[in-house]
Amino acid sequence: MHLILLHAESDGTLSKLSLESLAATIELGAPVTVGIIGENPTSAAESIATCGAEKILTISGPEYAQAAYATDAAAAEAICRAAGAEIIIVPATSRWNRVLPGVAHCLGGKADTHITGLTLIDGKPQASRWFYRQRMEAAFTRSTRPWLLALEGGIASVEAISTRQNQAPTPIESVPLTAPSSRTKVIGFEAPASDQQTIRPDAELLFVTGAGWTKKQADGAVKTAEAETLILDFLRLSRSSLGSTKSLVDLGGEGVAVLPFLSHMNQIGQTGSTPRHSKGLSTCCHGEEPHTVGWRFIGERRAISLDANCGWARGKADILYIADAFAVMKKVNQLMQ
Ligand SMILES: Cc1cc2nc3c(=O)[nH]c(=O)nc-3n(C[C@H](O)[C@H](O)[C@H](O)COP(=O)(O)OP(=O)(O)OC[C@H]3O[C@@H](n4cnc5c(N)ncnc54)[C@H](O)[C@@H]3O)c2cc1C
Repeated sequence: MHLILLHAESDGTLSKLSLESLAATIELGAPVTVGIIGENPTSAAESIATCGAEKILTISGPEYAQAAYATDAAAAEAICRAAGAEIIIVPATSRWNRVLPGVAHCLGGKADTHITGLTLIDGKPQASRWFYRQRMEAAFTRSTRPWLLALEGGIASVEAISTRQNQAPTPIESVPLTAPSSRTKVIGFEAPASDQQTIRPDAELLFVTGAGWTKKQADGAVKTAEAETLILDFLRLSRSSLGSTKSLVDLGGEGVAVLPFLSHMNQIGQTGSTPRHSKGLSTCCHGEEPHTVGWRFIGERRAISLDANCGWARGKADILYIADAFAVMKKVNQLMQ
């Protein structure tokens, strides 16, 4: 029996990542128990009650509204013990990632994170994940039970849940737990305005900026202010996620007045991140291997570069436009207005 552990969002729903992880668990084909924690997880549980789960176990209470190690770990352990599952799957949210190793230790099991694939081989689960900066993929299994696995996003489609909507709803059972005391108290949130938030993992498009935006252009002038306007306008209009090359973010780190909204968090590549978006558009970037290795999971890749001999032209992009990105993005923004 497999257990999938979820947490309800503050509005009582389940996140996309939670639903994908549930779908991945269902697709394994073994009987499934769903565990949900939250202040009031009933509506979240009802929303997936027809997914074909054998049991739905919940732990509710104001203590579980916010992420805190003590309460989340205790709730996860209580549901795992109540379910008696050997394979325990969680979505790789910051909330579960934080408590997973501790819960595995309390249960005498093992935990693996960043899982990007899960299949059953001869009735036994086999997981896969990437190592060495996403250069090597390993498929592996473990004999230790329980085995706890944190699934990354984008590895399953939520279709598996909706195709089961004609199932009879599974009754929702509450697991009793006296919440442990926690020293963590959430007193509020501070978050940047959504327009300042340029890293958007759920965006369809990854828009990448390269050092070319800050280089002297054909007329001999550096046009950083114009670059900033073009890039920010495109982000606002397309709601895409902003990535960058190392060269460009390094310039910012040296205190040079470049594009102030870029940081190392935006860097894509071998020493940066490897995001998952269905499409990618690179601008003013040379497309060198240490950068393009970070595009490994991008579905359709397009690039705009002045250099017909750049890395993108050598098989890194599906479509390469040999063009001035300033002119192209100006036109694109006009069309999108
Ligand atoms: C160990 C190691 C790790 C590294 N890790 C990373 C990493 O994680 N991520 C990463 O990005 N890099 C990484 N690098 C650096 C990487 O090799 C490249 O140096 C870097 O990606 C180059 O950045 P760039 O393409 O923005 O700049 P450049 O190489 O300077 O290219 C700028 C491009 O912009 C084009 N251009 C200029 N003006 C325009 C215009 N108007 N319109 C269209 N195109 C224009 C130019 O033709 C040129 O091709 C690493 C390097 C090493 C050695």
